[in-house]
Amino acid sequence: MLKAILFDLDDTLLGNPMETFMPAYFQGIGAHVAHLIPPKRLLSELMHASRVMMGNDGSGPTNEEVFAAAFYPALGYEREELEPIFERFYAKGFPKLQSLTQQRPEARRLVEWSFERGLQVVIATNPLFPRTAIEQRIVWAGVPVTEFDYALVTTYEDMHATKDHPAYYSEILARLGRQPDECLMVGDNWAWDVAMPASVGIPAYWIADPGEAPPEGDVSPVGQGTLADLWMWLDGVGERGR
Ligand SMILES: [Mg+2]
Repeated sequence: MLKAILFDLDDTLLGNPMETFMPAYFQGIGAHVAHLIPPKRLLSELMHASRVMMGNDGSGPTNEEVFAAAFYPALGYEREELEPIFERFYAKGFPKLQSLTQQRPEARRLVEWSFERGLQVVIATNPLFPRTAIEQRIVWAGVPVTEFDYALVTTYEDMHATKDHPAYYSEILARLGRQPDECLMVGDNWAWDVAMPASVGIPAYWIADPGEAPPEGDVSPVGQGTLADLWMWLDGVGERGR
């Protein structure tokens, strides 16, 4: 029986194509610290530290700690010196990126529906960003943490693995106190949101064009379609469950 629903954020609850968002994000953060660090250098260290963080597999510290250890020393600064400057970027510059994203009207209906059904609701976004950058995007999606009491929002401060590793999903299960088959993962990225949860036994609904062919392999999602399709599918599951 369904007890918990895990929603990816970017291009699932919120229209946010990474091909446009990430360059604008890098440009914004680069300009913000350009008086201290040449933007090219910042970008290359940011990419490097992000790759190191992607490798975090649940056996060590939080994603934030892994990122910080790879990032700040490489730039030749103490973490304490730079962190407040980046925090100001997230307060002043990051909000401007909202214009690149698109609210999806079905997102709020789905989240409301999930809470009405008494499900534990998780924002299962790849935990590569600080909490503020994730909570702001949740606001842009129209489902803010101030209105919805999520069981968990996976941020880089408190997760110990990324979606490249089964440990990301194991950590969610442990935090929720749930078995894999009591959960449903919903997301657009085949590797991260369908294949990886499937590897620990969590069924997944693939947010993709209904006509899109899934990659080769032995993983099959429980469903495929838009948020509106998911809505109808969930309603069917609810009927059958009663
Ligand atoms: Mg996504």
